[in-house]
Amino acid sequence: MGDLEKILIVICDGLGDRPVDEFKGKTPLQMAKKPTLNRIAREGICGMMYPIDVGIRAGSDTSHLAILGYDPYKLYTGRGPFEAAGVGLEVKGGDVAFRCNFSTVDENFVVVDRRAGRIKDGTAALAKALDGMEIEGIKVLFKESIEHRAVLVLRGNGLSPYITDADPHAENQKVHEVKPLKAEAELTARVVNQFVKESYRILSEHPVNRERESKGLPPANIVLPRGAGIVPHIPKVGELHRIKGAAITGIALVKGVCRVAGLDIIEVKGATGGLDTDMMAKAEAVVKALETYDLVFVNIKAPDICGHDGNAGEKVKVIARIDKAMEYVLKNANQNFVLALTADHTTPVSVKDHTGDAVPLAIHGRGVRKDSVRTFDEIACAKGGMGHILGKNLLPFLLQLTARSEKFGS
Ligand code: ZN
Ligand code: ZN
Repeated sequence: MGDLEKILIVICDGLGDRPVDEFKGKTPLQMAKKPTLNRIAREGICGMMYPIDVGIRAGSDTSHLAILGYDPYKLYTGRGPFEAAGVGLEVKGGDVAFRCNFSTVDENFVVVDRRAGRIKDGTAALAKALDGMEIEGIKVLFKESIEHRAVLVLRGNGLSPYITDADPHAENQKVHEVKPLKAEAELTARVVNQFVKESYRILSEHPVNRERESKGLPPANIVLPRGAGIVPHIPKVGELHRIKGAAITGIALVKGVCRVAGLDIIEVKGATGGLDTDMMAKAEAVVKALETYDLVFVNIKAPDICGHDGNAGEKVKVIARIDKAMEYVLKNANQNFVLALTADHTTPVSVKDHTGDAVPLAIHGRGVRKDSVRTFDEIACAKGGMGHILGKNLLPFLLQLTARSEKFGS
């Protein structure tokens, strides 16, 4: 398949927006200086995309699953599996995974600090003390993430994600006893309760915490799991479409989704997933990845952060930086590729959270039917030749554009 065009999907996280008062009703995309994004729209075919379905407020994880061609309603039970895969734990279909906090409790299991003083150092040693234990025949995998965060994976027969959280999600409350929500989850609930107790027994004696206490810092003396989810048994994107795919993202959650989907993760120095992310380093990585991969999938988190912060001015600046990065990619890529430029959901600065509005989409490359859209924004793209599509339609469209699809029928 050496000569087929490559596919580049660029997801600008939370890029879509709504009219902004301080911009006299324009959106940040409409306000931003973005000659390259406009060029992509002008030379390509545009449209709007509902990442999951019309009006559905998509999370980043469920949206990325949909855009990669999966049905999130069938395989998404919680964020845990994708967080776990994102921090580098090898998860397997059937594992049940959790997001966790290192927290501080008193001797009555009342939560004093849900984030253990936002502990930064020593969590790797704490995690190591918990990793590898076995409870009722279930294997426990445990790994630290950033700051007070960690992930827990349970592996064995008869596990279920349908349990309540141990984390009370508030301070001055007792750690919750985990309860099964379905009969099939009794074993899992018992294992998690046991794990939480064990974590207290082991961590309260741990040298890292002894040292914290001697400095007057809250000890990270318990682990509180939440967000249980089962790792889906899913075919890999590469096997489904006979393509070699890679993902570039600074966000653990998105890394996890891409890893579960079977994409190789390309780590980029300086790709932090924050506003300080090095977009040019990412652009260089994209150019390089296009040499060896058929599909390169990129997530740029920064617009979503501005949306959640309600910072319209910063969102405009971030879009200009994305424009520069895309200019670099278009100038320097040696391969022919079809580009899809879009977002995983709308995060309006006026709402500070995800909404169900469609996101703009531009597809650029050989063979596309150019339409009359001249600029890349939520209003102009709505008049484009792609019309309104769903996230699950995107990959099939790109596969046929690059001659990778089987004909349906004769
Ligand atoms: Zn997102
Ligand atoms: Zn978000």
